[in-house]
Amino acid sequence: MIVMTPEATEAEIAQVKRRLEAIEALHVLVLPGELTTAIGAIGDPEGVAELGLEGMRGVDRVVPISRPYKLASSELAHRESTVLEIDGRVVGGGETFCLIAGPCTVESRGQTLAVAHAVAAGGASMLRGGAFKPRTSPFAFKGLGVPALEILAEARAQTGLPIVTELLDAQHAEAIREFADVVQIGARNMQNYALLEVAGKLGRPVLLKRGLSSTVEELLMAADYVLKEGNDAVILCERGIRTFETATRFTLDLSSIPWLKLHTHLPVIVDPSHAAGDRRLVGPLSRAAAAVGADGLLVEVADDPASALCDGPQQLAASGFARYAKDVAAHAALTGKRLS
Ligand code: PEP
Ligand code: MN
Repeated sequence: MIVMTPEATEAEIAQVKRRLEAIEALHVLVLPGELTTAIGAIGDPEGVAELGLEGMRGVDRVVPISRPYKLASSELAHRESTVLEIDGRVVGGGETFCLIAGPCTVESRGQTLAVAHAVAAGGASMLRGGAFKPRTSPFAFKGLGVPALEILAEARAQTGLPIVTELLDAQHAEAIREFADVVQIGARNMQNYALLEVAGKLGRPVLLKRGLSSTVEELLMAADYVLKEGNDAVILCERGIRTFETATRFTLDLSSIPWLKLHTHLPVIVDPSHAAGDRRLVGPLSRAAAAVGADGLLVEVADDPASALCDGPQQLAASGFARYAKDVAAHAALTGKRLS
């Protein structure tokens, strides 16, 4: 919709109309109002955007009516919710709740196997663990790399839990393809479009985290980058955003979950650990996420949180995981879901 200024002349309106009519198959409709005239342009939002009409004389603003994300949109041919099955674990679809748990970072074989067995026994659906870590400081521990992937493979062999691990850099794509059942794209890379295309081509489900300062529309456009590579298996993850509030590490945007459920067919999960930055908040935020309709959780669990090299204060102790999982399952049941 192109809204003209109240002062726009007939000639200026006609000029805008002519520019629009140059786009093939665009339906153009002039709508004179009491104060201003609006011009509806139906059929080619990208083509209209490319005209740059905002700069023309007499144009007040151009208001896009259609959604800027396409493949991720729930409008897409009125498609049903996407339901993924990852080695028998169902993600999405409204009947199951997936609980992805594990250490922030794979630090050693012993640590990872201990956590893997604890979360498997407690009812986790999948195991998470970082091999390549995005660290705010270049001097912090960046993960063990490929040896960590081999430890995760052993954990998978021992527990049967599918592995979720982050693809940080395109140069690790082959190694990640070999070891990951689900490829995580971290918050800091949500708008690394080249990496999203690499992830989309890997032939593995992609867990896409929302950027720390990204809107939900930007998250869905990022998902479009993966989907356009022919990969239908995308899981969205709300993990907290930057706001003026500093009491928590990030602000968990709980309203994004029901919003996303309305606007996309993709499953939506929540990471309460990075949002909170404090394990005491992880239980309440997990319960809230389940209650507002999330399809699952991604939660950090350590065998000995106090000695963790990364994100210790927010990691749950493995010894308390079974109790936590039971509590989460009870809250997921409020929305008709059972643990997958
Ligand atoms: C993580 O899950 O380990 C992680 C680094 O999270 P985020 O990208 O959300 O900060
Ligand atoms: Mn972490």
